[in-house]
Amino acid sequence: MKIEKDRVVRFHYTVSEQGSEPLETSEGRDPLAILIGHNNIIPGLEKAMEGHEAGDKFEVDVAAADAYGVHQEGLTQRVPKKYFKDAKLFPGMQAVLETNFGPRAVTILKIGMSVVDVDLNHPMAGKDLHFAVEIVEVREAVEEEIAHGHVHGDGGHAH
Ligand code: ZN
Repeated sequence: MKIEKDRVVRFHYTVSEQGSEPLETSEGRDPLAILIGHNNIIPGLEKAMEGHEAGDKFEVDVAAADAYGVHQEGLTQRVPKKYFKDAKLFPGMQAVLETNFGPRAVTILKIGMSVVDVDLNHPMAGKDLHFAVEIVEVREAVEEEIAHGHVHGDGGHAH
């Protein structure tokens, strides 16, 4: 079965900045599961998956614009320190900020007495990425998954 819109793909991946060491991998964990055609992963990777089948391995370069977007200057915000759960904050570290739109990964810029300046760009924004992918499974999505726009069960939402 080939990968196309409204099918569920389970896959392993390793991502690196082009020419650098891996940043993140699913190796040693359960494969990731996504519903194709519903903006669940970065566009460049989804496009590269189309037409592949279970068992396929491939590598692809994805430019920043088709990955996490270009790095935007001035995308900084000053937030109260209490919004961070991490005990020790330091400039340059990645932290998770609880927002009205859910958790968001940010980069700490500057720490004051009670406020913290953060950069809201995605940590991988502005980076040209390289993915190594192994397709584990391809299946038809069930109606409920298509209605919700995400995968249920293994590797997906449990609700
Ligand atoms: Zn759901």
